[in-house]
Amino acid sequence: MTGSDDLIRQARSATVGALPKSPRMNTAVIACIDARVEPNRVLGGDQGDYHVIRNAGGLVTDDALRSLMVSQSHGTTRVIVMMHTDCAAMAYPAAAERARLEQETGQRIEFKLHPFDDLETELHRGVAQLRSTPFLPHTENIRGVIYDVETGRVRTVVD
Ligand SMILES: [Zn+2]
Repeated sequence: MTGSDDLIRQARSATVGALPKSPRMNTAVIACIDARVEPNRVLGGDQGDYHVIRNAGGLVTDDALRSLMVSQSHGTTRVIVMMHTDCAAMAYPAAAERARLEQETGQRIEFKLHPFDDLETELHRGVAQLRSTPFLPHTENIRGVIYDVETGRVRTVVD
């Protein structure tokens, strides 16, 4: 039995009530994939309260923007970009890995690997990108926060 087998078995026995398609708190959260970062536990709230868009780093990427476009078409008007301390995506050696993988496979990586080396700088960049995009109808309430995985505290960096 693997971990994924356990998870799928549990999912089959889960019961869920009727939830609204549009999140009750009108909010979308962009967060990292890190297993220590569980938005419903960090920010509170429950299933059905807000959309969660996750990727390595909790970065504003093309696909995060695509997901936000869908999210806002389903009623969200607010965005929280939540990065966190001790993030593996920040330590990921993107340039070296790109070079190594392209060398080993003989194929080009056509997508961005989004390297970054400072949480606050990247958070400011991401929020600024969202605030200036012409493709979102709601850009007036976008915040950037950093979750500290050691203390459990959330610090607002961009308000
Ligand atoms: Zn992370």
